[in-house]
Amino acid sequence: MVMHLDQQERITSSSSSPAVPTNTVLKVQAKESSSGSSLSSRKQHVLLALTQRWTIGGPTLLCVAEKFGKYLKRMLANLSNRIKDIVRPDTNFTYKEVPLSAESERALDEAGRKTLILDLDETLVHSCYNDPETNEHIGCSMVPPNTEPNFTISVDVEEMPVIFQVFKRPHVDLFLDFVAKWYDIVIYTASLEVYASQVVDQLDAGRGILRRRFFRQHCRSSTNVLSKDLCLVNRDLRRTFIIDNSPNAYRDYPENAIPIKTWLYDPNDKELLKLLPFLDALRFTKDVRTILSRRAH
Ligand SMILES: [Mg+2]
Repeated sequence: MVMHLDQQERITSSSSSPAVPTNTVLKVQAKESSSGSSLSSRKQHVLLALTQRWTIGGPTLLCVAEKFGKYLKRMLANLSNRIKDIVRPDTNFTYKEVPLSAESERALDEAGRKTLILDLDETLVHSCYNDPETNEHIGCSMVPPNTEPNFTISVDVEEMPVIFQVFKRPHVDLFLDFVAKWYDIVIYTASLEVYASQVVDQLDAGRGILRRRFFRQHCRSSTNVLSKDLCLVNRDLRRTFIIDNSPNAYRDYPENAIPIKTWLYDPNDKELLKLLPFLDALRFTKDVRTILSRRAH
């Protein structure tokens, strides 16, 4: 009995020793009980200390396990991101603007600020709606069911309100932030003003970067095809160009256009991001046509 308690005291007094297993305490208690004698206050203190040690030991172990669990979770998340980067290297792609040197600033001044015309539907956004008469989904074939739109707008069509669900092309906000610093931005859409002006308001989101707008009434129409008159926006074609998903839109100005893939809904689309390095460089040219005409039509 004494030998057992002395062993317990030595274990307890060592701060670096591991938690004492409960069965050690139970053995002591069992022997004490069988002998029928009472424990001295010191021995009771040791037992109490052991018990407390065990009581404290429980949460300590839990705490260590919890910390290890969190560490493991972080490690797995890191590993998962590394694998994603290897499989799809552009997963975390963004664009970092490099500060301009004095020489670049001079070149930019000489080139002059340019006008970038942006198409709206299938270039920056995609919209779909329910036909109020047939309740048929129009334009939603590529949108997965129950996908929440970025915003909705209500347009009166023949005195009947139609709710449009509008989906923003991935990275459109970041794209607009960058290009608005580099160019004067103009929205030019073949859509009706009553619809498009609301969409553009939402897209602008109070930034004041999409103030100049041209709509269907500003388009040219021939052989039932609508095209856009870039001279209406800016007569200086050295400093004007358009990004549009529809080649018909810029058919009269092929040297002033950058085509972009039609976007009907793909959450992994990165076409706007991919354009940023090119657009960053294009602002240094005196005549955009010298660059854009090199593209194969
Ligand atoms: Mg379009």
